[in-house]
Amino acid sequence: MTRAEARIDLDAFAHNLEVLRRAAPNSQQMVVVKADGYGHGLIPMARAARAAGAQWLGVALFSEALELRAAGDTGRLLAWLATPGDPWEQVLNADVDLGVSSASALDRVAAAARTTGQCARIHLKIDTGLGRAGCPPGQWEAFVQHAKALQDAGVLEIVGIWSHFTVADDPRDPLNTIQVERFGQAVEAARALGVDPEHLHLANSAATLALPEAHFTLVRPGIATYGISPGEALGTPASLGLRPVLTLVGRMALVKRLPAGSGLSYGHKYRLAEEATTAVIPLGYSDGIPRNATNVGPVFAAGRRRTIAGRVCMDQFVLDLGADNASEGDEVILFGNGEGGVPLAEDWAEVTGTIGYEIVTRLGSRVPRVYYGGDT
Ligand SMILES: *Cc1c(COP(=O)(O)O)cnc(C)c1O
Repeated sequence: MTRAEARIDLDAFAHNLEVLRRAAPNSQQMVVVKADGYGHGLIPMARAARAAGAQWLGVALFSEALELRAAGDTGRLLAWLATPGDPWEQVLNADVDLGVSSASALDRVAAAARTTGQCARIHLKIDTGLGRAGCPPGQWEAFVQHAKALQDAGVLEIVGIWSHFTVADDPRDPLNTIQVERFGQAVEAARALGVDPEHLHLANSAATLALPEAHFTLVRPGIATYGISPGEALGTPASLGLRPVLTLVGRMALVKRLPAGSGLSYGHKYRLAEEATTAVIPLGYSDGIPRNATNVGPVFAAGRRRTIAGRVCMDQFVLDLGADNASEGDEVILFGNGEGGVPLAEDWAEVTGTIGYEIVTRLGSRVPRVYYGGDT
């Protein structure tokens, strides 16, 4: 019996990959496992994704890609967020594909390729409107020509052209169509310059589920693989056919009766209306429980849905169980599958003013991840 754990259902994960595969049946699948597999654990989620047939994994950082290689992953793997001091030579030696957005990054790739003798595999990124990474359309042709010259010199191979959506979580927003059009124009311009790569990719989870015109040869779902909706406009996990993968459980560390009028936790932001059973749950903001879940965070405890009573502290929070009984060691579910009163990560996001992505990725390293299903 641990004080708290994140239970990770690898069968639910495999199911979600299948749902996403059926949504984009003609595209390869790149499962995005950045940020410690969205808080679910980098290596176990990567292994489960490969076991379920993912041809590609996607990460942001070189360090994440190298961690995967050190753990024995040998499949296609793309990393896309680098700074000049990163280990460019090491990632080429580790057979990692690189997303490239600028001429200066092309030069860093080329230098590393010459030093290592490895032909780099790169994916040229066009900024179709996000205004984050990617080459601006006005510089695209010069960028492609620069990359092609390096390809002709045998230094690198252009295996992909790609981009990223701005508002795919609202599939009706016209910017989605505009970005697909700009992407098509960038591909045409590259072809006219003699660059016609094997892979074209644009779709995150939301676009994989709701924008078939953005599927191309490869889709890059992240959040939906973990059973979390990419956005309210797309639907709930259940309406999308997705199964939440992570269940966050804590155990009651202390149960006691307190008289009417008692203030609970720091600042006495909550007072008992009547004499009640209270329970201390040993999870706090250092574990990733948002402090602004004070008096609003939903939990399933002692047989039904309840709300956190008073301040979320660094290591703990308190529940008002009213007239109900409970015992020390009893389980409390913070979020999970959304059934029978169990909250969803999306419910936590709603009451704390954020998105489901942040609720799972912020889960602290003190919370053990325990894996079920799959080959475990
Ligand atoms: C995080 C990320 C994804 C996955 O996005 P989701 O919304 O989680 O599906 C795909 N592509 C890029 C470039 C990303 O940064």
